[in-house]
Amino acid sequence: MDWKQPAESSEYDTEEGLSLALAYLEDPSSVPCPSCGPGQIEVVCYLEAHSMAKGRLVPTAPEDDYTVVLYCHSCGRAAALDLSRDERREAA
Ligand SMILES: [Zn+2]
Repeated sequence: MDWKQPAESSEYDTEEGLSLALAYLEDPSSVPCPSCGPGQIEVVCYLEAHSMAKGRLVPTAPEDDYTVVLYCHSCGRAAALDLSRDERREAA
């Protein structure tokens, strides 16, 4: 309904977010950007997944249920990946 088109968005779409999540789970130190390739993605921070679901941004350590925020320096897009163990999905 009020969905913004990706062209104006500074975030990855669902498909790209998914491949980012898979790459992160495979090797957190080397996550390639779906459009720019490897060496561009930086891990910005880790946030509590549960707090984020409630709309609060609480920094945390990368363990248990957390959301990792990635940023690509090349295309300038960010991705928040929910890596909760029980519900492995990306939070748009
Ligand atoms: Zn990129």
